[in-house]
Order: sequence, then structure tokens, then C-alpha cells
Amino acid sequence: MSALNSLTIAEARDLLRKREVTSLEITEACLKSIEGAGALNAFVHKTPEIAHAQAQAADERLQSDPDAPAMCGIPVGIKDLFCTEGVPSQAASRILEGFLPEYESTVSRQLKEAGSVMLGKLNMDEFAMGSSNETSCYGNAVNPWRRSGDATPLTPGGSSGGSASAVAADLCLGATGTDTGGSIRQPAAFTGIVGIKPTYGRCSRWGTVAFASSLDQAGPMTKTVRDAAIMLQAMSGPDHKDSTSAEIPVPDFEAALTGDIRGKKIGIPKEYRMEGMPAEIEKLWADGAAMLKDAGAEIVDISLPYTKYALPAYYVIAPAEASSNLARYDGVRYGHRAKLAQGDGVTELYEKTRAEGFGKEVQRRVMIGTYVLSAGFYDAYYNRARKIRTLIKRDFDQAFASGIDAILTPATPSAAFGLGEMAEADPVQMYLNDVFTVTVNLAGLPGVAVPAGLDRQGLPLGLQLIGRPWEEGDLLNHAYVLERALGFVSKPEKWW
Ligand code: GLN
Repeated sequence: MSALNSLTIAEARDLLRKREVTSLEITEACLKSIEGAGALNAFVHKTPEIAHAQAQAADERLQSDPDAPAMCGIPVGIKDLFCTEGVPSQAASRILEGFLPEYESTVSRQLKEAGSVMLGKLNMDEFAMGSSNETSCYGNAVNPWRRSGDATPLTPGGSSGGSASAVAADLCLGATGTDTGGSIRQPAAFTGIVGIKPTYGRCSRWGTVAFASSLDQAGPMTKTVRDAAIMLQAMSGPDHKDSTSAEIPVPDFEAALTGDIRGKKIGIPKEYRMEGMPAEIEKLWADGAAMLKDAGAEIVDISLPYTKYALPAYYVIAPAEASSNLARYDGVRYGHRAKLAQGDGVTELYEKTRAEGFGKEVQRRVMIGTYVLSAGFYDAYYNRARKIRTLIKRDFDQAFASGIDAILTPATPSAAFGLGEMAEADPVQMYLNDVFTVTVNLAGLPGVAVPAGLDRQGLPLGLQLIGRPWEEGDLLNHAYVLERALGFVSKPEKWW
């Protein structure tokens, strides 16, 4: 048996059922690997006491309940964006320093009720704004992968960078992520793991710190597609506390993994062929399509013409919603409060608190959001972006109406880059990371990143599959076929 922390969720579940291992043993192995992985800066709040108690309870439940849920006894990490009762939940922001929620987010509560074990909270970009984990108030998480023969520390991607790093380095069996414009799929691709952003409304947003409410979705980050199916199952479902969570039954996602995609139609959108894209990504994409064809699917060239407007539309809509969502951090109700000088009033309280509490990128987004929503510019920016969003969704609707079952694209335009490499770059350079992923959020569709291979430098690259709304099972089945055909088994060499 491999080290217990290296197990997949499915393997651990089966061993737990057969009583060949206890949750406490797996949990201990994970806690030990977390202790030895400080250099990755993935876990920012550790909760070993909670983990021990939950593992013990899970072991008892597994003894007495033959129908215990699949996640029972599985140690996971939770992104710092999810409010967890009595445990720091800061969205990696100074402004939430000291905030101990009195409630549990629906997603983490569902995982808890399914018997999973919380190891701690995971690093991320501040308020989930970023693609490199460098906007975190805790300092960046580090990718366990390195270029061969080169010790340059690399980004694990963002915003769910801590989740990606932790899963790739076997610090936990799975982790929660959130994805507003690519924050599950891009870090998954950068670290050689699987990440799915489900259909908008599949997972409740209640208790998850809001970034851009019409785009935010939670999802699992795991070592395999099967694990993603198992974990997504536990995270999904209608919730009366979130009016945008859908009253749609959650099918058995794991049962959908038949490995049979004969007769399915896979769309290859020509607009995703970007100028300057590395030849290796181009090749991997073609290889992926050939593999799906070998599995009996039909490959169809499609066009999604409004793709080119997706990034500008996203970077208007997301900041607009963020500026409104973040207005609640005023030093009165939560977290950090600035010290006031004699004569300061409530305006100074807001100004000083927000200036001290928010990092640079968050401030930039609030400024952009406020600008595009201001009376004089609302029509020119925000309304225009909303119209583009509708057209982007229509592109996808038309593709699916023409019989396409899934769309295959690269997950990211490059492999993981060096930490600090983008520091001097124009912020737009960083925003380009999301070029293949934001369309999916704008259209509310499910999208999954699957590790596809290593580039010349030995770094993982991912492919993305985009599916029909509410068809995560079918989408995961396509991903499962791709995963098996690609046979990606590489792991980062341990240096931490
Ligand atoms: N990188 C994107 C951004 O900075 C997406 C982030 C996310 O999906 N949370 O907005």
C-alpha cells in the first residue's frame, strides 16, 4: 500500500469500508505530511484537534453504518474562502483578521455531515482575486512542481493555489476550491491534478465569502476524475439559504463514469487557438482530441465567435460585483479596524480600515468596479459587458443545440510560471491566464481541468472539457476517458 496520505479518495474509501485502515491513520499521515511541508505554505490555519475528533467520529460511524457516505473518514483541506465555524476564515485578507465565523458554509457543512475530516484552511489569493496566489495576506503558496534541474519556486496558480499545492503534494486527499474565472481549473492544470467547476447553482454559495456573485462557484480539487465525482456529490445540492442554488436533483456522478463515450460529439473551438501559444499545448490539445476520437467520439470543429470579448467582459463584470460585495468590510462589523486619530469620524474609519485591510489587487478591483458602475460610465462598460456575456452564452447554447456534447480546449495558455515573474508586468498580463476559463463562468457552464502531460521543462499541462449545463456526470465521464487515455501518473519530486 502506498503512503496513506498519497491515497486517492476512492482508494481510501474502499480501504475504510474493508476496515483495512482507519480514518485516524490516514488523518495522522496527512497531518504529518502537512507538518513537513511548511515550505509550500499551503495550509494557513491548521486544525489538528478538529481533524482528530472528526476522524475518530468517522471511524465509529464506519463501524456502525454500512451505508456511511463515500466521504466518511476522508481528510480534506478547505479553501480559506469558506466560512468554517470557530476557525479563522479570512479569504486571505488582512481585513478579516481575527474573524471567527459563528456559522459553517453550506459546502463545508455538507462535507462535514458526510463525515469528512477537516485538516485546516488553505491559502489562496486575497478574496480569490488573482491567478498566482501572490495576492494572499499569508504570502504565496508554492507549487510542489519545479522545472527540471531548476530550483526556481513556481506559482501553484490561483486563486485556489493552496488547495492545488496541498492536493498535488499529498497533504490531503482532496480540497475545496472556488472558481469565478478559472480559479479551480488553472491551479489544477498548473499542479497536475483534476479540478471541476460545476454548473452555476450546483453548489450553494452560502457562507462562502463573495467575490463576484453571478460567477462564483465552489468545486472539488482532487487527484483523479473519480475522486472529483465523489467529492462533488457531497458538495452539491439545493440550499434554501442561497436563492441561486438550483432545485435540481444531484445524480450519482460516480455512476456516470462508464468509460463509454461512443457516438458523443466533441467540439474543438477554433477561437481557442491563440497566437503565440506554445507548440506543446497545441500538440497536447490535438493528442487529446485524437484520444477521444479513438474512444469512439466524433470530433467536430466549432466556432465560438464571442470568445475574444470574454476577458474584457469578465474584467468589467467581476470587479463591478466585487466592489459591491466588498462594501461590507468597513471596520464596523468584521475583522480589522483601523486606529483612529483625534477628530476622525466614520468616513476616516472606512477609509483607513479599507486602505490598511485590502491589498493592492483588491483595491484595484474595487476602483475599477466603482468606475464601471458610476452613473456616467454604466452604459459604456457594465451594460455592454452584460450584453457580451449574453452573446458568449449564446455561442455555447448554439454549439450544444447543434448536438455537441462536450468542448475540448487547453486549460491554460502556459505552464506554471515563476513566483515574482509577473510582479513588474502590466496586470493585464496576469489576466491573460484566464483566457480559456472565463467564458465558462460567464456562461454558467461546468468545466473540468484534467492533467494531460508534462512540458519540455517537466511541468504539468492540463486540458479543459466544457459540458452542458447540469450534465456534470456526462462531463466527468468524458474527463475520465481522457484521463485513462492520457495516463498521466507523474508526481512532483519531493524537495520540501
Ligand atoms: N484569475 C481570475 C481573477 O483574478 C479568476 C479568479 C477566480 O476564479 N476566483 O479574477
